[in-house]
Amino acid sequence: MKVQNKVVSSAVRDDGPSSSLHFKTNAETIRENIIHHLMSFQGRDPERSGAVDISKALSYTMRDLMVEKWIATQKTFYAKKKKRVYYLSLEFLIGRSLLNSVINLGIMDEVKKAVADLGYDLSEICDEEEDAGLGNGGLGRLAACFMDSIATLKIPAYGYGIRYEYGLFYQQLVDGNQVETPDNWLRYGTAWAFDRRVPVFPVKFYGHVTTYQDDKGNYRAQWVNTKDVMAMPCDMLIPGYRNDHVINMRLWTARASRELDLSYFGQGNYIAAVESKVSSETISKVLYPPDHNLAGQELRLKQQYFFVAATFQDIMRRYKKKNETFDAFPDHVAVQLNDTHPAIAIPELMRLLLDEEGIGWEKAWDITVRTFAYTNHTLMPEALERWTVELLGKVLPRHLQIIYEINHRFLETVAQKYPNDGNKLRKLSIIEEDGGKKVRMAHLAIVGSHSVNGVAALHTKLLQTRLFHDFDKFYPGKFNSKTNGITPRRWLLQANPELADLISKNLGFAWITNLDELRNLEAHAGKKTFRKRWSDIKRANKVRLADYIFKETQVTVDPDSMFDVQVKRIHEYKRQLLNALHLIYLYHHILRNPGTNVPPRTAIFAGKAAPSYWRAKLIIKLITSIAEVVNNDPRIANRLKVVFLPNYNVSQAEIIMPAADLSEQISTAGTEASGTGNMKFSLNGALTIGTLDGANIEIREEVGEENFFLFGMTAEEAEYEKLNPSRSPMQICEQNRDVYNIIESLRNGSFARGDKALFQPLADSLLDQYDPYLLMLDLESYLNCQNKVNEAFLDQDNWTKMAILNVARMGKFSTDRTIKEYSEEIWGILVEEEQ
Ligand SMILES: *Cc1c(COP(=O)(O)O)cnc(C)c1O
Repeated sequence: MKVQNKVVSSAVRDDGPSSSLHFKTNAETIRENIIHHLMSFQGRDPERSGAVDISKALSYTMRDLMVEKWIATQKTFYAKKKKRVYYLSLEFLIGRSLLNSVINLGIMDEVKKAVADLGYDLSEICDEEEDAGLGNGGLGRLAACFMDSIATLKIPAYGYGIRYEYGLFYQQLVDGNQVETPDNWLRYGTAWAFDRRVPVFPVKFYGHVTTYQDDKGNYRAQWVNTKDVMAMPCDMLIPGYRNDHVINMRLWTARASRELDLSYFGQGNYIAAVESKVSSETISKVLYPPDHNLAGQELRLKQQYFFVAATFQDIMRRYKKKNETFDAFPDHVAVQLNDTHPAIAIPELMRLLLDEEGIGWEKAWDITVRTFAYTNHTLMPEALERWTVELLGKVLPRHLQIIYEINHRFLETVAQKYPNDGNKLRKLSIIEEDGGKKVRMAHLAIVGSHSVNGVAALHTKLLQTRLFHDFDKFYPGKFNSKTNGITPRRWLLQANPELADLISKNLGFAWITNLDELRNLEAHAGKKTFRKRWSDIKRANKVRLADYIFKETQVTVDPDSMFDVQVKRIHEYKRQLLNALHLIYLYHHILRNPGTNVPPRTAIFAGKAAPSYWRAKLIIKLITSIAEVVNNDPRIANRLKVVFLPNYNVSQAEIIMPAADLSEQISTAGTEASGTGNMKFSLNGALTIGTLDGANIEIREEVGEENFFLFGMTAEEAEYEKLNPSRSPMQICEQNRDVYNIIESLRNGSFARGDKALFQPLADSLLDQYDPYLLMLDLESYLNCQNKVNEAFLDQDNWTKMAILNVARMGKFSTDRTIKEYSEEIWGILVEEEQ
């Protein structure tokens, strides 16, 4: 028997299943279809099928239902709409699709019964599915939440990306250290992706550029002698929430341009022919983790251009079906760039318009700028993409020419506005001159788009005042803010079915597609019986997580302790180390004061470190080492437990979020663009301990400062401290005994089985007066705030009240709101109110 990770809600609305076209969706027909798939497609004897087989057969049954709705959507809905949105993203962190499709199709009760008739429990069947981990973290998960809201709001949009054969690596912990293994998610196939044979498009690489005179006497460029790779589409269907609307996400797979290159055979070289085929197909092989020294990775650049070039051939094909000229292109096509990863699309559209369609530069440029919009996701200068001119010129020679021309014309306009200001030109230029010429993809994206948006209010303000200050001055009105969100279908209805039930029983079902409705929970926060139901559900979710923790780590945790959770990618700016320092403090505090009344706490971590980011990996090792010491110290007597759950992914997040009491959102102010994990926690009734960073600021504004544990410097103070430090980390250490003891324990081997060297690099980074993440400057404020958390947790009933108010006030953070804003303010598409 496996541990059940999920309870599946039955109370997802009781107004009957949504209509189906092909077969009636009652339990009987669903069961028949499962059996049909088992026998006809999987060749399984239904009598001898296991959960894996049923899971697959049920997935195919759901896909059948979605295909019909998808075809109807294309025919009736899309036919009427003029403008389409193309959301280009190198990442879609989808997670699992089965339970989500059952919920969104509105046939939960029927499916449950069908599966029960076959002798299974739906949650057990759903647990068989592999996560589609085609993304690294927040940026990829945002794209997946956007798809759900786009389908639910019936926006005429498509997602475009790459169907990686290997998603984000699988993380194992070996002796407390992260070890990466490949995520071969397609090993047993997936029911959700349709491999299609058409349309297949060639994508060119390398070669060189020649010019010729066309029949009108104009000089035109031609990109020749290229090496071509074919792009094959693979479609994933995304159902809207109970609206019979299904959209598709088109993910491209790389294929050799010919099955085998025949020219090799002439030379009798069969092996070379196969090798060349394999080499073209590596383009869609693996998702890149965000290692910071990626610069110059040729394959990554090829991935970017591969999916952009295929996508634009598809866009052009669709556009040309209905249009003779390109004048109306921006009225029919809006392209959103999810970060700079697909920004090579800007010179690509220019190339298509200039070289293939014979349109003049000015007109082509006007069309291009009106088509593109760019979303920035990071303030970290080291994360901004730059390609060397040498590499770009080798792989995409025509694009480099076009980028130079874009830059030349752009800098002319800059020079007009700022005469004799070489410094301004240098700062704004798309080409970075010093230290080897590089193409700044963010500058290209800003110049080539009509809209540039940040993902939270503070983030946008910092883009405008710091990173892209000169651009904001140069292009007034181009920068705008679109605060991120999460889809309430996955992150409350699906992940926390019992809480969703309680809410629906009291408020009705409107909150599912209009999250502002949660506001009506405020009236219930004062009722004792309601609070009791609420805390019973939280406890049940904690029991479920405790079982999962035991299964994954063999550590027993107490569901009545405070579940203090930090789950996200491991990065210095997110400051998992600060959290670890607090745990060391708590450990020391309990040892010194055995009679202390601090509430028992279970600190839960999860998250992957980029494989080449050694310091982040050392932070994982520190956390697992603290866990080893604390969890096995009898003097602690279960008052503190520390766990690190391996392999954080979407389906693990769905188990963790509903069970959290405290959400750790503790990045250095001014570093986290928005965060979306912060929203998932709050929507599931965890209270936040956090800094004034990213969307934390807006969450605090919404839930009320009395329902949020705030600590630390503001972004402005942090910036000021970096330039004019008020105290050095060393001084802080000398002035505060507790702090001194924490740092000392990193250096004396307490958590390293006596090895004094192991965590020395972490102690060094903390004591470094140039620490860019200012951990020591925020540490005392953090420790004090954790004391307030402890006090507050002792009053369980009031804690529950605060949790209810958090949930009640999270309406703003639905991606339905975010997508409406993108749609109306960037894409120029009015969202129709509910039918
Ligand atoms: C939401 C989510 C993230 C983003 O978390 P942040 O706390 O915003 O960094 C990353 N990974 C997964 C699996 C998620 O579900």
